[in-house]
Amino acid sequence: MPEPQSLLPIQCAELIQHANSIVALTGAGISTAAGIPDFRGPRGLYVTRRHDPEKVFEIGAFNRAPQHFYEFSNDFVTEVKDVQPTLTHKFLAELERQGPLSGVITQNIDFLHQLAGNRKVLELHGSYRTALCQYCGRRFEDLSYGWWEQNMNNSATPPIANCPKCQGLIKPDIVFFGEAVTGYAEAERMVAECDLLLVLGSSLHVSPASHLPYSTQATTLVINQGTVALPPAPHRYFMDGDLDDYFREVARCLGGAR
Ligand code: ZN
Repeated sequence: MPEPQSLLPIQCAELIQHANSIVALTGAGISTAAGIPDFRGPRGLYVTRRHDPEKVFEIGAFNRAPQHFYEFSNDFVTEVKDVQPTLTHKFLAELERQGPLSGVITQNIDFLHQLAGNRKVLELHGSYRTALCQYCGRRFEDLSYGWWEQNMNNSATPPIANCPKCQGLIKPDIVFFGEAVTGYAEAERMVAECDLLLVLGSSLHVSPASHLPYSTQATTLVINQGTVALPPAPHRYFMDGDLDDYFREVARCLGGAR
């Protein structure tokens, strides 16, 4: 097996300049610099607020006892509502505006890519932007964190969001354990058709995102703090470091070149 190869920011800038279709696959690490700790990490909500992911994100548990999910959501919304995108989020938005970025595939539910200006964002695990009443089937679109905050606050303690029409239980379109991820076939197609794949802030430990890098032989740059579950290969480059530091340098190298 070959040794993992690294890639300097100036080399990354060159690859970006020559790429026609870049796809970014992003995970929790891209948002930690914005102040959203990885749920699973030492500062994440599973640890600091003692949320049990099996109770929070398991669909059967949600239907029986939705308060676990809504207690988590209350904490999550409080944590993310005023958060701004990072330098790396903005760098990806600029790449889309300029043309070479075909899209972002994200494991995150924090909506920061759209806030940065990306329009082509595939949210594998869904988000709080849309929701469905579990009882009458009413759909809720374009929801803000403020909407959730208000709805959860208006409910009893522990907070639960209810449908204004029928008082049924509302479930945001977040993918729970045991539910199919959103748009996986589309994500696979995007990765297969790109000529540069950026895997940013994901340890690639969570399925099915962890399978996506295997869908391409295109140059793949993996940047994450800590280990990544992807073996070295001639077309793969690995950097263990801070995303914003790296892309600040890449942006400087690109300068007025684009
Ligand atoms: Zn309803």
